[in-house]
Amino acid sequence: MLLAIDDTDSRKGMCTTFLITELLREFDELDLMDHPRLVRLNPNVPWKTRGNGAVVIRLGNGVEKKDLVGFDGKEIFSYTGEYVDTEDALERALKVVERWSETSEEGTNPGLIISNEKPPYEMYQEAVKDVVKLEDTISALEKMDCRYTGLGNKRGLIGALAAMAWIPSDHTYELITYREQHRWGTKRKLNGIVRFDKETEHSFDSYDHEEKQQAVAPRSPCPVLYGVRGERPKELLGALNIIEGESIDRWLLFKTNQATDEHIQESKVGEVKPWTSVHIKGTVTSLPKTIPGGHVFFDLDEELTAAAYEPTKRFREIVKKLIPGDKLELYGGIREEPLTLNIEKMKVVELSEKKVKVANPQCPDCKKRMSSIGKNAGFRCRKCGTRAEEFDIETKLVERELEEGYYEVPVCARRHLSKPLKRVLLV
Ligand SMILES: [Zn+2]
Repeated sequence: MLLAIDDTDSRKGMCTTFLITELLREFDELDLMDHPRLVRLNPNVPWKTRGNGAVVIRLGNGVEKKDLVGFDGKEIFSYTGEYVDTEDALERALKVVERWSETSEEGTNPGLIISNEKPPYEMYQEAVKDVVKLEDTISALEKMDCRYTGLGNKRGLIGALAAMAWIPSDHTYELITYREQHRWGTKRKLNGIVRFDKETEHSFDSYDHEEKQQAVAPRSPCPVLYGVRGERPKELLGALNIIEGESIDRWLLFKTNQATDEHIQESKVGEVKPWTSVHIKGTVTSLPKTIPGGHVFFDLDEELTAAAYEPTKRFREIVKKLIPGDKLELYGGIREEPLTLNIEKMKVVELSEKKVKVANPQCPDCKKRMSSIGKNAGFRCRKCGTRAEEFDIETKLVERELEEGYYEVPVCARRHLSKPLKRVLLV
């Protein structure tokens, strides 16, 4: 039995991953098969909830090898084995969802699916890269051996079905810890995040060393204490000893599609669609320009504007060093109006030559420096009247302050799905 939920959280408080811990309590008589899955979907969808993540668990009768994947008063193991179905599963799960999700809040539209079969992988691919219509999700659900219910405008069903369809070919893990209920909404006390970041070789996005900012604890009043991300479950479990501050009520280790770049599709400068994320190649055709508010923009192939917005902090200083002629590969989400690429990652493929003017052109006859006729109007020799063009000026090459290679936005501005360079360069 596969159980998926989405869109139960809100800016004010609840978190879909916490609801899974409550669902595991409810289905105590069944075993958890494989890790619970936290699946992030298209971050550019305009009506997303915070983080746009859905959660899936498989329940059944465990028979074989087991792994420790959580703690909630007692250890939670995940098993291999066979799946079983429970007839009243939808009703039982719905009670839990209704109790804990913020259904009263506008913009929270929970979806809950219990299924005996896995939806086709395409349902995931479409939802992570593009915008899925609710009617397409409903028609897919109608064809499946499943039961479902959607609250509010039912949009949560889209994410729930898509998450269920995910196949974790590339994947990472996130250990999420939860606070004692009496502390929800109060300031979180956390120590040891820097130490955790330094001591765990295969974790990522925990701490922004330049901004001196932690990136594991949410800023919302939700039940999450912190979430640490990485390649290896064992390393992440180390956080339980390294990160201190307040006692943990429960924890759960999720398998996720975070940090995989699975939201990115190959595209071309002239073909990008709003609300998608793309990887494109192009040449810089304007000098980067900073506007009030600190956002930096430049043009690519005279056709698409690329942006490093203020929250990308020091990444903007790198972007400002670009000049026309630089060849780039860009990764990022497409904003609709005006059509702009919000850069997540950049590869400087080839730097163009940067020249500065040293002197006006020299007259070939008199060997004297010519004078400017006017702005962009060329030059003339005062003595003999010989003319020269703007591009005849004498220049010299200056060293670029930028190197070829990869650059990424800092940890504090990173999207869940973005593959950090730490992972890109591993391959
Ligand atoms: Zn002359």
